[in-house]
Amino acid sequence: MTASTGAVETTKVNLLGLTQPQMESFFDSIGEKRFRAGQVMKWIHHFGVDDFDAMSNVSKVLREKLKACAEIRGPEVVSQDISTDGTRKWVVRVASGSCVETVYIPQGGRGTLCVSSQAGCALDCSFCSTGKQGFISDLTAEVIGQVWIANKSFGSIPAKVDRAVTNVVMMGMGEPLLNFDNVVAAMSIMMDDLGYGISKRKVTLSTSGVVPMIDKLGEVLDVSLALSLHAPNDELRNQLVPINKKYPLEMLLAACRRYVSRLGEKRVLTVEYTLLKDVNDQPEHAEEMIALLADFPCKINLIPFNPFPFSGYERPSNNAIRRFQDLLYKAGHNVTVRTTRGEDIDAACGQLVGQVMDRTRRSERYIAVRELSAEAEEPQTATNRI
Ligand code: SAH
Ligand code: SF4
Repeated sequence: MTASTGAVETTKVNLLGLTQPQMESFFDSIGEKRFRAGQVMKWIHHFGVDDFDAMSNVSKVLREKLKACAEIRGPEVVSQDISTDGTRKWVVRVASGSCVETVYIPQGGRGTLCVSSQAGCALDCSFCSTGKQGFISDLTAEVIGQVWIANKSFGSIPAKVDRAVTNVVMMGMGEPLLNFDNVVAAMSIMMDDLGYGISKRKVTLSTSGVVPMIDKLGEVLDVSLALSLHAPNDELRNQLVPINKKYPLEMLLAACRRYVSRLGEKRVLTVEYTLLKDVNDQPEHAEEMIALLADFPCKINLIPFNPFPFSGYERPSNNAIRRFQDLLYKAGHNVTVRTTRGEDIDAACGQLVGQVMDRTRRSERYIAVRELSAEAEEPQTATNRI
């Protein structure tokens, strides 16, 4: 055990995070037949097994060999909460010692899992609580580990039978395109029949706009893409989503267009727009957005701001949200408002904070500001005046 993180130090290969080709190479490397890859992947992902001895179609000799050089290790579950509306939230500890969150949202026949890709985030969007932490670490096998944990929590599930997780959105903590290799590997396992067999349409990556990586993603995968737009012009977007200064809207929308045109099959971009009271929720913003997306096939998802302490932003009124939605709708857009789920367990978008062990400069700054404003807001009493 390491003193600082509590994480187990090991040199064994963690089979949980390996894609099918990587698993085949692993079996090659230990002098075993490649078909073992499929057998072991099914045990791990279809049946949630983490014990080689449970793999009844693997010989005892091979099981002992595997035990000596490999392991199946998911992230440690620190807590699991279940909301009154059926939403579930897990807090899991990752190798850096920080905690990240995963949220499961049941709706109709679907079960959508919102997966984290990083502990903290470097991109510092002004309305996002994860951004306030700064970047802590990239998740590794811990990305697919969240799907593994969620499915396991619903009991042992045989292949292709009523899986709990039918859809995955990379919309938890972190910017998935800045942890490219680990996220691509995890999404490949999500879509692989030896993994979770989820259709490419039902695996969605959300990005704040890392343009070169959008193109790179298009070269290797065909998952659905969601763009966190949040502002209809560069001036406002520069303030809300700082990476826009590097990759402005024209460049960004061109990259999204390239990505989606490769997908074909009438698939469209999802545009996410967090509504912030008096900041980006006015009729003129809706009009600008209509002009910006005029010939861009997309569906728009409005996310009313989910408040967190000292964010400096407010959620717009229901009337303002409806007015914004109506304007887009009348212009011919397919536009939905994301309903907040799991509020009683703090599972809403942008409320995922986890628990950060190592404090970056940014999180220290944020905490300092929070403490200063808390002091300023405290009523003056005889004791705290002294
Ligand atoms: N980093 C990626 C994915 C994670 S954030 C991205 O930015 O797209 C998932 C979504 O939640 C993004 O659209 C993000 O902008 C939005 N979001 C962040 N904080 C929010 C908050 N406080 N209220 C509402 N939505 C928020
Ligand atoms: Fe990072 Fe996304 Fe939050 Fe921006 S909104 S700080 S990119 S997690």
